[in-house]
Amino acid sequence: MSSNRVALYALLITTFIACSSAHIDKPSDAIPEGARRLMEAYPDYVVGYEDNMIVFSDGSSMVYDDGKSRTIDEMHLEQDVEEIFFQEYDKSIYPPPYGYDPGRYRCAEFFGKIYGGTREEAEKNLVYVDWCPKLGGKPVLFTSVAGAAEALKRVSDELEQHPELKSWVLNAQTFNWRTIQGMTRLSPHCYGIAIDLEARRSHYWKWTYPRANEHSKLEYYNTFDMRVVEIFERHGFIWGGRWYHFDTMHFEYRPEINMPEYAATPKQRVITVGKVAPKIEKKIYYNVFKEHKKSSKEEQLRAEFYSKVFKTPYHE
Ligand SMILES: [Zn+2]
Repeated sequence: MSSNRVALYALLITTFIACSSAHIDKPSDAIPEGARRLMEAYPDYVVGYEDNMIVFSDGSSMVYDDGKSRTIDEMHLEQDVEEIFFQEYDKSIYPPPYGYDPGRYRCAEFFGKIYGGTREEAEKNLVYVDWCPKLGGKPVLFTSVAGAAEALKRVSDELEQHPELKSWVLNAQTFNWRTIQGMTRLSPHCYGIAIDLEARRSHYWKWTYPRANEHSKLEYYNTFDMRVVEIFERHGFIWGGRWYHFDTMHFEYRPEINMPEYAATPKQRVITVGKVAPKIEKKIYYNVFKEHKKSSKEEQLRAEFYSKVFKTPYHE
């Protein structure tokens, strides 16, 4: 074969491959990145995506993107599945800038489907996790669905290697069927995927600023030990201290936005191959943030206020 002919064959083959992949990658075939992450995070529950619908293992399906563009206030009332991914959970963004609340927008329809949409359904899935027994902890209720209880047990096992962190983990609260303070939405504590630690030493924006609303400018507060945060985050939990609307006692199992590090590599986890997912648009509101130094007087006022509101400990 002449070298000219080899070059011609090479060109033809390259053109063929280019045409084939162009066909595979056309937009109607693409699985949105969010839908793919749901399949990776909840493989026993979310098994497919087709025509803007996510498909569940029981054969039912749910609209992924309802096409509505909501304001922040509207998203606190109603969300579609796509809006679970409204903001990336980025650990390098700290302290959280204005409006940055990654993971705080939860689609009630989706989480109700996975964990139970009524108190009775959610309660059926609860199991006791022996929480830090070597440090003196007590069993806590958590959902057995989607690996949540196993993930919490892994956190507990690792925390037990650090007796110096004991004072941050013993006071724990988990399942509680209630709405979020000041909202009609269910709290993630309803699903058995959230744990609050050391509430009395933590900061929640509405306890610090009782008159503030979602649009208010807030100063960020956190005294929580970051070593505890780091352990939770490695096991698929997100931390409320990464929110502008800070809730530093709050840890929540959310593998779709913070995949546990022990999960298979992304390449192994991808269920559908040959399709390219579009990148999630990052909608993050940045603002100049100044570190706020707290005076002891401020801390004292806060403690006094806190002792009053703790009688109704409703938060995220
Ligand atoms: Zn909480």
